[in-house]
Amino acid sequence: MKRIGSNLRPADQKPKRNIKNIIVYKDDEKPSNEYPKRIVSPVTPKTCCTDDNRELVGQVKEIDGFKFCYKICVECGHAVRYFYPAIETNDEAVREYRAWKRYMTQ
Ligand SMILES: [Zn+2]
Repeated sequence: MKRIGSNLRPADQKPKRNIKNIIVYKDDEKPSNEYPKRIVSPVTPKTCCTDDNRELVGQVKEIDGFKFCYKICVECGHAVRYFYPAIETNDEAVREYRAWKRYMTQ
């Protein structure tokens, strides 16, 4: 008996190993964006590397509750992995839940 889809790997369910840094920091290579394969970035950021100059590359990913994305400076090509603070939304949910519980026990 053959099950359809049984040989499909659940790629999204793999543990943290999925968070692999695709940024390669090199000064002897031109900065290049080969997302999602790799991103070649200068080793050190410069004064141009502000939040305004950094552009989001690819899609925002979420693993184990952490949202992150890659950002590249449009001026010099310096790339960083940017993690979003994921706790904020959780706090909100917890607060609401507690408020609801207090209401229920009255
Ligand atoms: Zn820069």
